[in-house]
Amino acid sequence: MFKFSSILPALTFAALAFGSSASAQPFEDDSWSIAIHGGAGTLEREKITPEKDAEIRAALNAALAEGSKILKAGGSAMEAITATIILLENDPNFNAGKGAVYTWDKTNELDASIMDGSDLSAGAVAGVTATKNPILLARAVKDNSPHVMLSGKGADQFSREQGLEQATPDYYATPLRLKQIEDVHAKEVSAADVDYKFGTVGAVAMDSKGNMAAGTSTGGMTGKRWGRIGDSPVIGAGTYARNRSCAISATGAGEYFIRLGVAHEICTRIWTRFLAVRDEVQATVPTDKDGVPEYYIHASEFALPPEEVQKIADDVIAELGEIGGTGGIIFATPWGQAGYSFNTPGMYRGRATSDGAMSVSIYGDEE
Ligand code: ASP
Repeated sequence: MFKFSSILPALTFAALAFGSSASAQPFEDDSWSIAIHGGAGTLEREKITPEKDAEIRAALNAALAEGSKILKAGGSAMEAITATIILLENDPNFNAGKGAVYTWDKTNELDASIMDGSDLSAGAVAGVTATKNPILLARAVKDNSPHVMLSGKGADQFSREQGLEQATPDYYATPLRLKQIEDVHAKEVSAADVDYKFGTVGAVAMDSKGNMAAGTSTGGMTGKRWGRIGDSPVIGAGTYARNRSCAISATGAGEYFIRLGVAHEICTRIWTRFLAVRDEVQATVPTDKDGVPEYYIHASEFALPPEEVQKIADDVIAELGEIGGTGGIIFATPWGQAGYSFNTPGMYRGRATSDGAMSVSIYGDEE
């Protein structure tokens, strides 16, 4: 398996050439990383009670612990993100599975997607109404169908045929979501005008074999109509994973993420930058009298410095802002980095890596 794991002279060259000490940290062969989110939005301290704050942090910690446990034991990124997202879907605090927002017609239409960065296999479902854990349905589409995306009634039927656990409308319902849709009805505003959609969940990971995976699950936007589908089930917009570059899960105003193809855009920029920086480093390798380099730097011997990855993610989120989009993403890279970028006041988020680092945060001023 291709894994960016060795510490070779090239890394030192990278560190010298770009003044980055972080890029010269040795990778352990069994390194892994995971990042999760539970939605982005106007999450400000004065809007969240201390009890809710603690509840959310506990949920994020539990999800992160579950994913970390799997990765630590040598489990796959795909297993880790699936288990993590299931926990968040089952928690009524988040807009996915139980606790999903209502459509204009007071129904639930759930979207989810999942992607395996090792073989680019992917599965997605849009507008499903009766699966307890939509992420499992997305995964079933990936594993057990010849398709990438199923929608509506057909996807519900596929779910039953796959023997997935079904749920009735009252399973998803919570008093908060009911109040929110009643508000939207009373104000006669459109789904895009309200700040009630937050709580989409997602996870990205790299496992100890260097395989990456990403997944996202959501109820979409409160008051959505006409079969509206956001970015979460769109591979390349809300979710993307490719071993050579990154794994991404997004949350926010889906229409804008679709227009920019945010998840794929970030992965492509990371890969392009990786190749460019590697070439720049290669150019510093001494040559013999005929101009032939003394050695060649292979992709597996080189890491893109963490600050370069962060800048790429921030640049794409800045572009999202320029076209009017709000929200954020979580990322994992083949070099063991797990992080975030968002342009909202806050994002429910957490990350953990094999070096023992683990944190959860809500507000923009937290790490
Ligand atoms: N991205 C989701 C959507 O547009 C909503 C969210 O993440 O808050 O459906």
